[in-house]
Amino acid sequence: MASNDVTLEELEAAIRNVPDFPQEGIQFKDITPVLGNARLLDGSISHLLGEHTADTVNVVAGIDARGFIFGAAMARELGVGFVPIRKKGKLPWQTHEESYDLEYGSNTIAIHTDAVTNGHRVLLVDDLLATGGTAAAAANLVAKAGGRVVESVFFIELGFLDGRAKMGDVPVRALVKY
Ligand code: AMP
Repeated sequence: MASNDVTLEELEAAIRNVPDFPQEGIQFKDITPVLGNARLLDGSISHLLGEHTADTVNVVAGIDARGFIFGAAMARELGVGFVPIRKKGKLPWQTHEESYDLEYGSNTIAIHTDAVTNGHRVLLVDDLLATGGTAAAAANLVAKAGGRVVESVFFIELGFLDGRAKMGDVPVRALVKY
């Protein structure tokens, strides 16, 4: 299927904004209309991959849970493996953990200690970059496991929250920015 004719404007137009979900004041960016459309899904994977090939990336790591949807498809397209970064308590084997602050309380995410081979180049993906807490913690987990994040890619970036600032040296790319 020819997908590269899908424009970023089309992807942006398909995002559904849901006010006050899951709580008042949050503008939830619903990507299910993108996922449910074969052409837009295919175009999303192409845009998220950008110029990457199996020569620049050894493995794709996706963040729980919507990062899994894009990440597994991207890994298959590149012909590399996929690593899930999950919420604490979900991975069955030995893990590295990383905690980060939320507006109220904190969150902990984890990676299997053997998920990444030493020195491997990791492409990190999630659906949305907001404050950057989740993605920064995920990049730290990759480093703890011995890998190096070559780029972090997001379908959506909420630029006004400046999540990029938390990513340090890790390059950040997003398809649709608010
Ligand atoms: P953060 O750690 O603040 O960058 O939050 C990023 C994570 O929270 C991602 O995994 C997103 O799926 C989710 N998220 C945060 N804000 C939104 C939003 N407005 N719409 C949809 N998902 C969001």
